Amino acid sequence: MALKITCPVCDRPEVEGDCCPNCETDLSLTRMLMDLPVVATEPLKKPRVWWQTSMAILFMALGIGMVCAGNAIVSSPTQPSVLQTAAIASKVTPLPVQQKTCGGFYYTVRSGDGISDLAWQFYGSSDLSPKIIEANPQLKERPDFLQIDEVILIPNREESCL
Ligand SMILES: [Zn+2]
Repeated sequence: MALKITCPVCDRPEVEGDCCPNCETDLSLTRMLMDLPVVATEPLKKPRVWWQTSMAILFMALGIGMVCAGNAIVSSPTQPSVLQTAAIASKVTPLPVQQKTCGGFYYTVRSGDGISDLAWQFYGSSDLSPKIIEANPQLKERPDFLQIDEVILIPNREESCL
């Protein structure tokens, strides 16, 4: 392995080791590649086949070179929006189980409705939007997104029950 070769990636001349000190490409397979022509000179083999084989090996070498450079592939973190998207995608939303409320009514969401708007409309205060979210568990993951024609429970205010 004392043969000095030129790095095929960065053209650094006279690389002695199996890993290019300049671009950290793994050169061990590149060395094998340089030995191939000796084998390939057998009369039965077609030069074109040899060329394709060496290209395949070269790509392999490049792939291993990336590992050599320590570029570990970081798996992308699980996107938290997947479940959320699935919830939005389900057109038929099951009606929420009755919470500890003192009654209320079902409201069909119309275009332009927001939870804070509904809280303002039905309670007189947009600060009470958590009350609506609490009564509709499916909204906890998307409090800022109401689906048109979605049926949500508007619970009565406690004082209305007395
Ligand atoms: Zn290099």
